[in-house]
Amino acid sequence: MIIKAIELRMVSLPLREPFVASYGEEKNKEFILVYVETDDVVGVGECVALSAPLYSPETYATAWYMLSHFFVPAVLGKKVIHPREIREWLAPFRGHPMAKASIDTAIWDAYAKTLSTPLTQLIGGRDVDIPAGISIGIQPNIIQLIKKVESYMEQGYHRFKVKITPETGFDSLRAIRHEFPHLPLMADANSAYTLNDVTRLKQLDDLDLMMIEQPLAFDDLLDHAKLQREIDTPICLDESLNSLSDVKKALELGACKIVNLKIGRVGGLSEAMDIEAFCRQENIPLWCGGMLEAGVGRIFNLAISTLPGFTLPGDTGPSSRYFVEDIISPPVEFTHPGYLRAPDHPGIGVTLREEYIHRLTVQKDRFTI
Ligand SMILES: [Mg+2]
Repeated sequence: MIIKAIELRMVSLPLREPFVASYGEEKNKEFILVYVETDDVVGVGECVALSAPLYSPETYATAWYMLSHFFVPAVLGKKVIHPREIREWLAPFRGHPMAKASIDTAIWDAYAKTLSTPLTQLIGGRDVDIPAGISIGIQPNIIQLIKKVESYMEQGYHRFKVKITPETGFDSLRAIRHEFPHLPLMADANSAYTLNDVTRLKQLDDLDLMMIEQPLAFDDLLDHAKLQREIDTPICLDESLNSLSDVKKALELGACKIVNLKIGRVGGLSEAMDIEAFCRQENIPLWCGGMLEAGVGRIFNLAISTLPGFTLPGDTGPSSRYFVEDIISPPVEFTHPGYLRAPDHPGIGVTLREEYIHRLTVQKDRFTI
């Protein structure tokens, strides 16, 4: 298939609840949709970069720049024999994995549609129920936190992740553990701790947590390895793992025992599949993280979660948890409480609601050969 045209759209999608971050409050989630057109099909990918460089150095604005100036010109007009090639075409450009992943995933979708094959099948996934996990942000007090946990338990979620800070983390988790002794519970620290907090982090060992995610700096492996030697709770890395090579280094150093995989963070599906294959071979527990994706990104998460190496419930849940209305039809929904399924139609297997997307589009650019 030959890539004949690429369209970029910046979409501003209303959130169900405002997203509160240190720099302010956001009522909409802004993201880029990448449409890759061939003679026969249109593939679509979603860029998961956020508005501010607080999770990783990328933002949707830097992604737009990198796509328009470098990544679109690198693939436009090219003949794709297999989408595994895309990673190599983009490899000379350093960094910007989320921008790369958005175009890479769009080409995977186009390729699967060309073959009239569901993406899940193309990548070797299984026809399975995908257990959904929930991620709970920092709450104003412990009573509200417990109420949130309870309501998500009623909805059938399989794993409960709580965002923590050094000040309140232990007390919050202890209260939840006291209330729900058998809850599959984990913590995400998003780099809020340092090695000076070892005593605090050791306290968590009494709470029977599945893991603690990314307690230390986003770009650090060595300190995580030192910390893992001190605590029993398994460390899971998120922000620190941007490639298969990072995963191998982290495991060899003993910096983590569990891997969180995000397609955007590692630059696309090929790299994500290689990480899955490696973790499966090495018996490393693996799960799929979330970036507050809209429908397209959410479907790619479901597709990759059907690979056998994904042994723990991930972050992906129904669209309605985050958005008033999703951009895809049908939206991502529980097939039965707590379980999702990847679509079994060609490509990503859902329809884009183009009229709705048109109304939400705040910026657009089109590139042709
Ligand atoms: Mg995380």
